[in-house]
Amino acid sequence: MTLASLRRQLLAGDTTSAAILHHLAGEIAARDSLTGAYLSYDLEAALAEAAQADLSLPLGGIPIAIKDNMNVRGQPCTCGSKILAENYRSPYDATVIRKLRAAGAIPFGRMNQDEFAMGSATENSALQTTRNPHDPDRIPGGSSGGSAAAVADRTAIAALGSDTGGSVRQPASHCGVVGLKPSYGRVSRYGLVAFASSLDQIGPLTQTVEDAALVLQAIAGFDPLDSTCLDVPVPDYLTCLHAGVHGLKLGVPKEYFGEGIDPGVRNNVEAAIQKLAAQGAEIVGISLPHTAHAVATYYVIAPAEASSNLSRFDGIRYGHRTANPADILNLYKKSRDEGFGPEVKRRIILGTYVLSSGYYDAYYGRAQKVRTLIRRDFEAAFHQVDAILSPVAPTPARKIGTFANDPLHEYLSDIFTLSANLAGIPGIAVPCGTTDFDGGTNLPVGLQILGPHLGEAKLLQIAQAVEV
Ligand code: GLN
Repeated sequence: MTLASLRRQLLAGDTTSAAILHHLAGEIAARDSLTGAYLSYDLEAALAEAAQADLSLPLGGIPIAIKDNMNVRGQPCTCGSKILAENYRSPYDATVIRKLRAAGAIPFGRMNQDEFAMGSATENSALQTTRNPHDPDRIPGGSSGGSAAAVADRTAIAALGSDTGGSVRQPASHCGVVGLKPSYGRVSRYGLVAFASSLDQIGPLTQTVEDAALVLQAIAGFDPLDSTCLDVPVPDYLTCLHAGVHGLKLGVPKEYFGEGIDPGVRNNVEAAIQKLAAQGAEIVGISLPHTAHAVATYYVIAPAEASSNLSRFDGIRYGHRTANPADILNLYKKSRDEGFGPEVKRRIILGTYVLSSGYYDAYYGRAQKVRTLIRRDFEAAFHQVDAILSPVAPTPARKIGTFANDPLHEYLSDIFTLSANLAGIPGIAVPCGTTDFDGGTNLPVGLQILGPHLGEAKLLQIAQAVEV
């Protein structure tokens, strides 16, 4: 039941939007108590929308699951945090939601995530544990873990996630689904609760590459409400989908295949590269020399922006407010102390420190300079090749709890995904096999394909050649 096949069934009159929603509700009731992907859903509201659905539209009548950091009017938007879980209801639709509705889709379900999207395992959700449908002892990845797990578990047709440093691609890889992070500026961030505004992008998690193209088509494009959203035409992402890879130059960066990468991941990714070569792509060895600095650079810039963005959660305007504060300062402090979890506090402290006077130049300023070097690495590479191939993550999904007291280890596992956000380029994760890892069997492995800015159509075309 892919999005594309359901579209055909809907148009042929073989099913209805309401029937799809009832089916999903049944699947959720049957399995989501184990998977824990959904924080909430409103079947009645979705059925009311389904009754009005215009099936002639590109996503007419299709339910799409939404990560719990995108505003849907009247619905909760917890961001996986206690600070918003008690009493916040969205007063408006995010632009992606408005665009999904304009394409006929129905936002259905609020998906678990790491608190404020900070994490790679969904273990930082303050609200519930999400498990990998391929092995319930393992993480689904993160931070869009609920979105990925539901698509993999077939309790959702397709979902939206957000990707600041890999949060769409990495959970897609761990759950064996497709995840696309668009170029910075391709999709409006208006109504996405900001984590790190210069890095955040919204993208689809889907069962197939074609479905990713369909969802991207609906959400991409200019929005006057986001000043970083680009006013450039959106290409047709479906026309070139089956054009193949013959004659394309695909770069394989040596820095992405070094030590620390699991042999099963390496074998599957190399097999996918061979598959593309067999279809006529030219494989070229390349170098992205500043890769080793990506983790340090990201973990200065992202917390810096987060510390600023999260200052709005002060106990006054949104969400949790402490009981019986002594004075106004105490109200701010206690509300934030009670509302935020440990990882969010760690990032706020780190970010405030790197922005503080006396340290700003040494940390934040320098990180911005290294960010430029990382971007230039990609610009140089894309003079040589059409796209870049790599693993999404160094290992398949690990067991829940492995890095509970080791955030640094967790940060290091983001090495392959962070650079795309720092450079503003698009990236897609596409399943490329399974492997055994740390006592687990048949765990999904993802291939990452990175492209030049606004090169989403080419990425989808290459990903399609991996999928078939
Ligand atoms: N794992 C990274 C982090 O914790 C990326 C998260 C994301 O993309 N939202 O910041």
